[in-house]
Amino acid sequence: MRRPIVAANWKMHKTLGEADTYFRRLMTLVPEVPEVDLVICPPYTALHAAQRALAGRPIYLGAQSARPEREGAFTGEISLAQVKELGATHVICGHSERRALFGEDDQLVARKVWSSMEHGLVPILCVGETLEQRESGNAWSVVEGQIAAALGELELSDPASLVVAYEPIWAIGTGVSAQPTDAQEMAARARRWLVARFGTIGQQVRVQYGGSVNRDNAASFLGCDDVDGALVGGASLDPDNFWKIAQAAVG
Ligand code: PEP
Repeated sequence: MRRPIVAANWKMHKTLGEADTYFRRLMTLVPEVPEVDLVICPPYTALHAAQRALAGRPIYLGAQSARPEREGAFTGEISLAQVKELGATHVICGHSERRALFGEDDQLVARKVWSSMEHGLVPILCVGETLEQRESGNAWSVVEGQIAAALGELELSDPASLVVAYEPIWAIGTGVSAQPTDAQEMAARARRWLVARFGTIGQQVRVQYGGSVNRDNAASFLGCDDVDGALVGGASLDPDNFWKIAQAAVG
């Protein structure tokens, strides 16, 4: 059995005060021992405050991105070592907004994934196709290429040290989610790739779906055999919604 993992990607939302209000509310909702891994990825500015607010609680923290280099002349960037110091245990790698808006290519995403693991951080590798690529029948070949670029050379001994998030680009932040059958098909293909590459370890790697998941549709995705959780943007900004989505992961 793969333990579900539901992650919140706040993107560039929430001041420190708003983050504090969120965590206070979330902590009233989440039991001492939840049956699902919860990861909150706030902006960098809120990571440290989040670490303090959630101390001792079974909620992980993630960074939305980070540079793989240890240090250097990367104005405006932050390193994996630095986000780890701020309390992050996970890091989103290759989110489609980073790929599209900040020019991140497969090579950089691969370096982020490898370096995250070297730092003991769990990469959440985001992969997904555009609508055009889907409509031309190339969805899987695009996603396979992204997965192979990031994981093809990787050594993996612990399945918990990696998460793959299938996020069709056309479904992110649009309110138009994929069909659960599409999510299942792509997650199953991703899993077959993982098993072919990593054997039985690949069978245990968790694969999320992301793209306009909300409290009303979450169960339809999280009930799919190969979908082990969700990466949630907009709907995660409200703690009650996020917790409802997480609950859908355990049925
Ligand atoms: C995301 O940012 O990864 C995402 C899935 O966003 P949304 O849920 O808003 O589509």
